[in-house]
Amino acid sequence: MKGPQRGVVLGEPGSVALEEIHVDAPGPGEVLVRIEATGVCHSDLHVIEEDGWHHALPVLLGHEGAGTIEAVGPGGEGLAEGDRVVIGWKAACGQCSMCKRRRPRQCKKPPAAPGRLHRHDGAELTPVLRTGTFATHTVVPAVAAVKIPRELPVEQACLIGCAVATGVMSVLETAKVWEGARVAVIGCGAVGLSVIQGARIAGASEIRAIDLDERKLEQATHFGATHTEPGPVDFVFDVVGRSATFDQALGMIVSGGTVVLIGLSPAGEKVELDLPGLFAKRARILVSHGGDHLPEEDFPRLARWALEGKLDLAGMVTRTARLDGWEEALAAMKSGDVIRTVLTP
Ligand SMILES: [Zn+2]
Ligand SMILES: [Zn+2]
Repeated sequence: MKGPQRGVVLGEPGSVALEEIHVDAPGPGEVLVRIEATGVCHSDLHVIEEDGWHHALPVLLGHEGAGTIEAVGPGGEGLAEGDRVVIGWKAACGQCSMCKRRRPRQCKKPPAAPGRLHRHDGAELTPVLRTGTFATHTVVPAVAAVKIPRELPVEQACLIGCAVATGVMSVLETAKVWEGARVAVIGCGAVGLSVIQGARIAGASEIRAIDLDERKLEQATHFGATHTEPGPVDFVFDVVGRSATFDQALGMIVSGGTVVLIGLSPAGEKVELDLPGLFAKRARILVSHGGDHLPEEDFPRLARWALEGKLDLAGMVTRTARLDGWEEALAAMKSGDVIRTVLTP
């Protein structure tokens, strides 16, 4: 590895800093990736605000990364030094009950590469969602590093790793939106805009964008939204995950309609459900974990769509910064000033 290794670390609740880290050589079935671009996603903010969420501290932040393979551990088949990869946080283990039932998209235990990342003092770092991409380097299981064409600019490619896979696949895989369906999206950040793009790709006849921020509605229209106010629809994607937005979603679906919950709700968030109303409406409620995406199958397809112009990734990268711009990037996301900041370590 050339140059110093650095990463953005949540050391203890409320304390985040860019610091020197130590990255070990990849073990069997693992790869070492030099991160070239990483999107700043809401889930990283969630990890900070929820004191690590379910990750043991200290935590290496970031989970939407792309880069180049620097080393392949024994058995890391199909990958070679120099390959451009997007890192996936939802690879399939091949061992759990869902994988054994040939449902790798619902894998219960996506593989990790534990014990490879350390703080300066030797303490083991837990990478966010088994990836840890706010860093110069990380180590992940080979199955989580998916080769994509180098023609796709890396600062666009990284978005495939979380926001784009989550949004687009929530439409195509979780909800299986049909051609001609009416779709609404509540919350038009990077994931919401990806839902809109997925709905456009699925051939939805109507795409309603809902957001409190006028700027986001404008962007939503640019990405394919046909309306910017609520209305009766077959599918609503709640990308916000608050009781008010979930209620609004349930209120918008027509008979037989589907509400898909994508947003990460704060701990303790609750809704009251009108059961007779749900029954009468034959409402379906689905939960999307990353749109049930499977990196090895979906990333190459999404990259191809981007290269073909079917998927607009370039328009989603509204700001780039170096790794030390992480704090500003999180603030810009909170304020809604950007669709995505991409950090280029
Ligand atoms: Zn599994
Ligand atoms: Zn994310």
